[in-house]
Amino acid sequence: MRHLSVLLFTLTLTFSGIAQGSVRRIQGESASTLPPSVTAAAFLQRNAPRFGWDARQLAAIARVPAASRNLIVFGQNIQGVPVYGHNLKVELDLLGRVTHVWGEPLKDLAIPAGTPKAPELAVLAAENTLNTVLPLDLDPPLVLLPGKPARLAYLVVAWVGLKKFHVLVDAFSMNVILIDRAWFNAQGRVYGIDPARTPDPIDVELANLTSTDALVGRAGHVWNCVTATANQGMPDPENMEVEEIPTSDASGNFLYDPVLTLDYTDFAAAVNLYHHVDRMDAHFRALGYTPPVDVTVVANVHSEAGGTKTPMDNAYYTPMQNGNDGLFVGQGTNVDLAYGGDVVMHEMTHSVVAHSAIDLGVQQADQYGINRMPLGLHEGLADYFPASLNDSPVIGAYSLEMIQPGASRDLSNNSKVCPDDMVGEEHMDGELIGALNWQVRVELGAEIADEAIFTTLTRLTAASTFRDYAETLVTTLEDMETAGDVTTNQIAAVQTVIEAKGLDICGRWIPLDEPRRVSVFGLDTLGAAMGGDCAQLRGMLDYMDVDLTTMFQYQVMVPENATSLTVSLDLTPMGGTDLQYRVYGRGGQMVQYELVNVYGGMMLPRIQTYDRAWPASPLESPLGATATELVWTINDTPPLPTGQEVYFSVTHANCPQTTLDVEATVSTDPIVDPDAGPDGDTDGDVDADTDGSTEKPPAKKDGCSCSAGSSSRPNASFFLLLAVGLFFSLRRRLR
Ligand SMILES: [Zn+2]
Repeated sequence: MRHLSVLLFTLTLTFSGIAQGSVRRIQGESASTLPPSVTAAAFLQRNAPRFGWDARQLAAIARVPAASRNLIVFGQNIQGVPVYGHNLKVELDLLGRVTHVWGEPLKDLAIPAGTPKAPELAVLAAENTLNTVLPLDLDPPLVLLPGKPARLAYLVVAWVGLKKFHVLVDAFSMNVILIDRAWFNAQGRVYGIDPARTPDPIDVELANLTSTDALVGRAGHVWNCVTATANQGMPDPENMEVEEIPTSDASGNFLYDPVLTLDYTDFAAAVNLYHHVDRMDAHFRALGYTPPVDVTVVANVHSEAGGTKTPMDNAYYTPMQNGNDGLFVGQGTNVDLAYGGDVVMHEMTHSVVAHSAIDLGVQQADQYGINRMPLGLHEGLADYFPASLNDSPVIGAYSLEMIQPGASRDLSNNSKVCPDDMVGEEHMDGELIGALNWQVRVELGAEIADEAIFTTLTRLTAASTFRDYAETLVTTLEDMETAGDVTTNQIAAVQTVIEAKGLDICGRWIPLDEPRRVSVFGLDTLGAAMGGDCAQLRGMLDYMDVDLTTMFQYQVMVPENATSLTVSLDLTPMGGTDLQYRVYGRGGQMVQYELVNVYGGMMLPRIQTYDRAWPASPLESPLGATATELVWTINDTPPLPTGQEVYFSVTHANCPQTTLDVEATVSTDPIVDPDAGPDGDTDGDVDADTDGSTEKPPAKKDGCSCSAGSSSRPNASFFLLLAVGLFFSLRRRLR
């Protein structure tokens, strides 16, 4: 049953001239490749006289997001004033043929004579009626309220708390003539968090619904997936047939019993989605966020080919071609992901991060090499907000564990540090940020922490690093200290966590003031994921003349009186010893890369500007030993830069995953033998520019040419596209 918490009095108006919604089946229209809204408008233009309509009164105002047909919504207006609460729809098939017209315009409507009063007065009238304060710049539009006679009114859209009202105020008398509540108190049967933590479903009021007969609300529109074509093994969100979720009873409730086994028609999944998406949406609104686009949510997502349905063991967020945000939640093999409330909220938070700070299309490589930290920030933030709202630090206690035992992420129990535990995979690296955020919550309490972390999120720029995040967070807390919300001791406690997790040094370079350890991704894993191997991937990278960069560059402070610098690299491979790597050094600035379009818009970094390379020439074989000492002295050509920072960058095409230990030693001892060191005899090969930097000789092949149809190695290019596409996946997928 519905529970009306506010008693509303509405005037009963006697309408005249309201036609019953009529149905017109249209035959014989020709196909059209024009946009459906254009075809529909042209159709009305041609046929309005035949229907007895005035085509000038009809304007396309919306499109129904249905996949199997096009439905264009037309509003009616009289001399430019929209008729309130009335529309009609023109339906086209996928060939662009008009097949139906649903509904029809009202007849014999006229705008009452006279000059309307100022719209601000209508806002005041709505305030008095709703007993609330509204923004005076609402600028309510005029609408025509059909009736006998038709009345000209201001439409004031007003939010009171979480409830939305339409208040119609007579434009001449300023009397309130109608209050429409744009919300309904239907109930839904859901899990409080998920079946693991809150195993008994509960009946809750579905907040912020704006429809009486579908799961449409302030936070989004929830559909059920009927079928979808498979695209590279995944359901294609742009070729998906969806259906509305019907109410479960005549009172307008959605009380379906959850079905946790594989069932593509289980509507309770959609109800659970609505509830958790709305909770997360309401939380972000309370923090000051307003979603800039509509959100489409689809439950029971799966694909279908040849009549066989295939589950999707995943949930993801993606921007859609129609401009909406999409949350696609799979009916998986063993788990319906819609029932994992926290994971649904995680995907929703990706949307907030994408609109506030880091676009999903963020560049994953730049002039300093491959950089996946912005995506790690995405994941760490998407883990934090659901955990905080649920007051439970575990993400995926139900759905991730059902997919793979042990896959859940506990933000309160995480010992990862930067750089040692960074691997370049955003969910795994994001745990450092999620864990930091949870400790901030422990120190500050949920309310202040959520505010601080949300403010920090809005201040991130497109290519922020973890170090940027930590510094922005501390600056935000200092602002809040000024406002009296945070104490000096609390900031010091957060700073201690930041340093313990190494996030204060977790930028694009790591200081070599002490030995550092990082993980280096291997081509074995990448190749295997593609059904190929390391040698094939190496061939592709070599063909493009690019290597992968390790996650960080290194910085050494070289004093004025230094005579030599020794950098030791120790590689511990996991499986095989097939290593290929190069090291570049540069004084004063980071080593620079150019971005190469390797295939179809994928960018990888190619070495460009450095002072010194090991081996010296790009034509020499790369280094391959598990232990290497690189010595750079003031007698070398070019000489070791002194009195400044020196940066090092490691690139590689290693097959195995490797642990890389790097250590730097600066010596001030006089140099006895100027040619000492393993690289001494190749120093002369480095060709120094007048500016002291070395430009690599022109690439032997242009990577861009590989995307041309005339490429002599199309299969090879395609393989790299797939590999890089997997590695640099553009959609945020759940793990
Ligand atoms: Zn994610």
